[in-house]
Amino acid sequence: MSVGATALGPEALLRLKAEYLMPCVYHFYKSPPQIVAAEGCRLIDHTGRRYVDCYSGVTVMNAGHCNPAIIEPAIRQIRTLQHTTTIYLTEPILRLAEALARVVPGDLKRSFFCASGSEAVEGSLLLARLHTRRPDVVAMTNGLHGRTRWAINVTGLAMWRTDPFPLEDVHHVPFGDARALREMLTQRKGRVAAVIGEPVQGNGGIRIPPSDYWPQVRALCDEHDVLLILDEVQTGFGRTGRWFACQHWQIAPDILAVSKALGNGFPIAAFVTTDRIAASYTRPGASTHGGNPVAAAAALATLAYHHEQRLAERAATLGERFLDRLKGLAEKHCCLCNPRGMGLMIGADITDGHGTADAKRLDSVLEDLKDRGFLCGKTGPERNVLTVMPPLVIEGGELDALADAIDASLEATETRA
Ligand code: PMP
Repeated sequence: MSVGATALGPEALLRLKAEYLMPCVYHFYKSPPQIVAAEGCRLIDHTGRRYVDCYSGVTVMNAGHCNPAIIEPAIRQIRTLQHTTTIYLTEPILRLAEALARVVPGDLKRSFFCASGSEAVEGSLLLARLHTRRPDVVAMTNGLHGRTRWAINVTGLAMWRTDPFPLEDVHHVPFGDARALREMLTQRKGRVAAVIGEPVQGNGGIRIPPSDYWPQVRALCDEHDVLLILDEVQTGFGRTGRWFACQHWQIAPDILAVSKALGNGFPIAAFVTTDRIAASYTRPGASTHGGNPVAAAAALATLAYHHEQRLAERAATLGERFLDRLKGLAEKHCCLCNPRGMGLMIGADITDGHGTADAKRLDSVLEDLKDRGFLCGKTGPERNVLTVMPPLVIEGGELDALADAIDASLEATETRA
């Protein structure tokens, strides 16, 4: 593929970025490659170098980059009818709503489509307040839910809580601690509309709660007549080895927020609820881009692809095998600790070798992995969690090669340290 000819190159781009983007927009790597193309599990830079994508644009490209089964229907749609908004009757949004209702857990059935994960969270919280007519929300420490006013306020990670004037009706409890949640709900009895959380925390550092946590949270919400909102923006669509992560604990939320992998690269999101709760949202609601025909056609094709290729099962099998490899590496390298994961949502702490989080070392490991042809992620409140969330279409051999590369990178940074 000849991709270099039209590329400005990383230096020129960094100059433009410094001048024209908000300073909050940051990127990984000291010398970032300019990504110009992609295919399956590969990202390609302006020199034609290919990297294995081990982060999926933060778990968006679950069905792989530029997947013909998804982009062809989207291209046909873009040539035929691109945009109308929901004030006109069109087919893709309704076929998508029906297809989504078939895969979401429990009695969830009715969707409101919007364009980003933040909006899906914002809408979920609005719906919970409309339905319960109560103001408060209980959220979890180290959760991440987006950048809109409500979403940023329910976020529990300090680095993403940018709003200088936090909302007073949001209360945080420690993630994974059902007793703390019980106390909070008892203390604020009659005031809480909803509890919101990620089933497995993504940005919080791939945190999996104790096995009885979610069933207990579900029971507590029922006991206190409070709605449970699950943010499956990261965990949804096969990432953890099931369609939705909550299915590992056989629970269903009252409202489910989804985005990212739903459109496999096309911006689309939704919050989904039951007939009963949806009945409270009768005042006019509209989202200009929500459920846009092109994004809806892409999402519909994405869901079909997930069914056909059994991507969730694939994630479960490949994830287990890769996690075993990481566990082996943790025995060999004292700076790689606590490998954990569900399906292909996998993380491990990088430490200084004596148990202290070492974000700098992770940065060197990531840089070294990039030079070896693997682009991995970084999460956690201390930014020291090596994070692996590749497209679910990745081959086992590529994950084996990634494990070998992590081994070599850790070795290299240990020698340098
Ligand atoms: N919820 C979760 C769990 C997320 O990880 C994110 C984004 N990383 C969001 C919500 C916000 O999504 P968006 O960036 O599409 O607004």
